Amino acid sequence: MANEGSSSAALGEREYELVLGLNESDSGWVEARTHCDHLLSALSVSDLSHIPPPYYPCTRCEHPTENWLCLSCKDVLCGRFINRHMLEHFQKTDHCLALSFSDLSVWCFKCDAYLDAQAILPLQPVYEIAHLLKFGESPPVRTLEEPPTA
Ligand SMILES: [Zn+2]
Ligand SMILES: [Zn+2]
Ligand SMILES: [Zn+2]
Repeated sequence: MANEGSSSAALGEREYELVLGLNESDSGWVEARTHCDHLLSALSVSDLSHIPPPYYPCTRCEHPTENWLCLSCKDVLCGRFINRHMLEHFQKTDHCLALSFSDLSVWCFKCDAYLDAQAILPLQPVYEIAHLLKFGESPPVRTLEEPPTA
């Protein structure tokens, strides 16, 4: 009986580590940014009626899925785990904003981070169109809470 007491104390220590996330600091989910300095220069999708559908293949290699939509020129290009055509496109053209057709997340190559498309006003229209094209309905309205004081 006394032994049980000491082993549960050791377990408690381990749980504490897990709560702090000490074991997953490198691979964990990164929070999307709500601010990006490159929107003004890169976001030039004004005609939202000609956005390619989410099943559109990569315009370079015709890879059929998990492609990215360039938010500067509406080109559809594959990701860094396929043939990296979106990454190449950014390096050649400086078009740094891309919307993922697989989960509708927006990536900024210059921020090197995901952007919260629902929290960033200029991104909302294109996010809504992409959501409509992918799921056949508009995204659920999300009430924005006051950002925590950082
Ligand atoms: Zn950025
Ligand atoms: Zn490709
Ligand atoms: Zn582009």
